[in-house]
Amino acid sequence: MMHMDEAEADPQSRPERTARRVPDRDSTPVGPTRGDASVDSALRRNGWGFADSGFYANAEGVAGFNGGRYPLGGSTFPELLAWMEGALGTRLDQRERHEFAYPPRVPPPLTDPSLIADLKTILAEEQLCTDSLVRLRHGHGHALEEIYAINYVQLSRVPDLVVYPSTEQAVVELVAVARRHNACLVPYGGGTNVSKSLACPPAERRLIVSVDMSRLNKILWIDPVNRTASIQAGAVGCAIQDELKRHGFTLGHEPDSSEFSTLGGWIATLASGMKRSRYGNIEDLVLDMRVATSLGAVSRQSAGPRESAGIDVRQCMFGSEGTLGIITGAVVRLFPTPTIQRHDSIVFPTFEDGFAFLYAMRDEASPPASMRLLDNAQFQLGLALRPVASGLLHRLRRIRNSAIARLHHIDPEQGVLCTLLYEGTRQEVALQRKSVRKASRRFRGLHAGAANGRRGYELTYTIAYLRDFALTFHIVADSFETSVSWSRALAMCTEVKARIRAEFERLALPGRPLVACRITQIYGTGVCVYFYLAFHHATLADPVAVFSHLESCARAEVIRCGGSISHHHGIGKIRAEFLPSVLSPAAVEFASRVKQAVDPDNVFGIDNQRVAVPQAPETLG
Ligand SMILES: Cc1cc2nc3c(=O)[nH]c(=O)nc-3n(C[C@H](O)[C@H](O)[C@H](O)COP(=O)(O)OP(=O)(O)OC[C@H]3O[C@@H](n4cnc5c(N)ncnc54)[C@H](O)[C@@H]3O)c2cc1C
Repeated sequence: MMHMDEAEADPQSRPERTARRVPDRDSTPVGPTRGDASVDSALRRNGWGFADSGFYANAEGVAGFNGGRYPLGGSTFPELLAWMEGALGTRLDQRERHEFAYPPRVPPPLTDPSLIADLKTILAEEQLCTDSLVRLRHGHGHALEEIYAINYVQLSRVPDLVVYPSTEQAVVELVAVARRHNACLVPYGGGTNVSKSLACPPAERRLIVSVDMSRLNKILWIDPVNRTASIQAGAVGCAIQDELKRHGFTLGHEPDSSEFSTLGGWIATLASGMKRSRYGNIEDLVLDMRVATSLGAVSRQSAGPRESAGIDVRQCMFGSEGTLGIITGAVVRLFPTPTIQRHDSIVFPTFEDGFAFLYAMRDEASPPASMRLLDNAQFQLGLALRPVASGLLHRLRRIRNSAIARLHHIDPEQGVLCTLLYEGTRQEVALQRKSVRKASRRFRGLHAGAANGRRGYELTYTIAYLRDFALTFHIVADSFETSVSWSRALAMCTEVKARIRAEFERLALPGRPLVACRITQIYGTGVCVYFYLAFHHATLADPVAVFSHLESCARAEVIRCGGSISHHHGIGKIRAEFLPSVLSPAAVEFASRVKQAVDPDNVFGIDNQRVAVPQAPETLG
């Protein structure tokens, strides 16, 4: 609760200012406007990120990172490929690269002249696109299976048409037109999902229209008194943050995909950002939303701080993954921009020590905005991604570090790293630091400094490019995540890793799997854990099928160990098969009936979260 003297010190908090809702520079557009050639060409179409950024290997077999957008840009990493070889038990041969064969064949579009004629009453000609590569890009996200397919195989079904509405009203009308013409609509945010939630159902015979939300990218207003903002759904994360910062605010929602993912996508997938401990998850930040559905526009008169107003339609939209309607905008909570932001890092002798440290931190009233615990394999990958350091200085640093490490009983094959981000006022950051230092001492933590912490967070954005690079060395890799109670988390981490290794061995696959994990969020009741799996597949005919099988085994093990089906990536098509094992039949039926009732013609027919109906005994065989 804010005290009077604090209220006086903060002019924005005086209630009489409430009436002066501040229109923010006539709705500032934030983020890229796709469909515009200069913006589209900056983005890589067949993999992650910007076209001018990415890993490469030179003729001498040294890896490096291109481009000037990230701190690691222009660096080389002499140890990266050797580390990958060791971790995967294989040789990575420069002469045998598995180069991308993009673009694949793209299925021709279905056409419907009467639908197009009606769409043209709402949208201009240039807001409709049938270009094959644009349609292809709108038919997938970033799941391994999808990136592999577009670069080495093909997608059997992609949208027939991509449209770029620029007003919320146009989206509402679009839905009515689609319903009238029996077309299928698929909302498209940043295309960053990893759950195959944009993958078009191969059997869909209707015309599929991808509704690209990138032109609905405006901050409509900022209300500094009540700390809220109304933002359109296609606005991209980093751009929202930059614009709010200019007004002294932050949303505090920063998923690792922030450069490309959108507000609408976050709501539709129930996303979680790295600073959840301080600001909350997306469901904590959204006060209200506007949605274009088959029944019409869903909206409310106002967004109170909290309401008891019967069945809450907003709750249905969280995690709806494009199946119930198109989110066109939302009112979100804001926080003052933190006055201080500091990084930190701590090395612990074992994963268990680091985990005990996190557990000790769970009840802190003012926790760091982010704490991430990397297991030994991830820690080592981070070290392998160190750019060239100058000879003598580098060697001295290594000797010194290893001496300190010995003193603290840190074995390079066991040690783990916790990276931290403190945010807030000067006093809050001082408090956060103090509690971290106190708890880390109890669990043999060795402070590794701000620079290593900052590097960890900087790596977040560049490491996202690593998977595409690895693919060209015949390595398949992906991550999956879960949430689990504190009491079951450590056992789950161990058992999931063991399950993958055992299955890998049983199938007599080549080399060895790289299985790593990290804890990225902590709650009073448990943690969010990310697992990473990679293996070298040179001799396998269908590496993606093998990968999916291993991931399914791992997911089954996660659930057996008490983990959730997903903490924030969602269900899409990848995890739908597991819904019946975590929900009662009535719960599955309930969700399916909601869908049928609010979208009776299945306009939003992207088929996410669909549980295969078990066949009746007489139809089997
Ligand atoms: C490198 C990388 C890092 C990631 N890090 C994180 C992370 O830290 N935290 C996290 O939560 N996720 C993360 N993700 C996953 C992904 O970024 C999130 O799921 C994100 O919320 C998807 O947003 P998007 O705008 O890209 O949606 P899209 O991928 O375009 O769409 C995802 C689903 O949402 C639907 N959808 C999109 N927009 C709308 C709308 N306006 N209305 C209705 N439905 C809509 C789509 O139809 C689809 O079903 C990461 C992914 C990658 C590849």
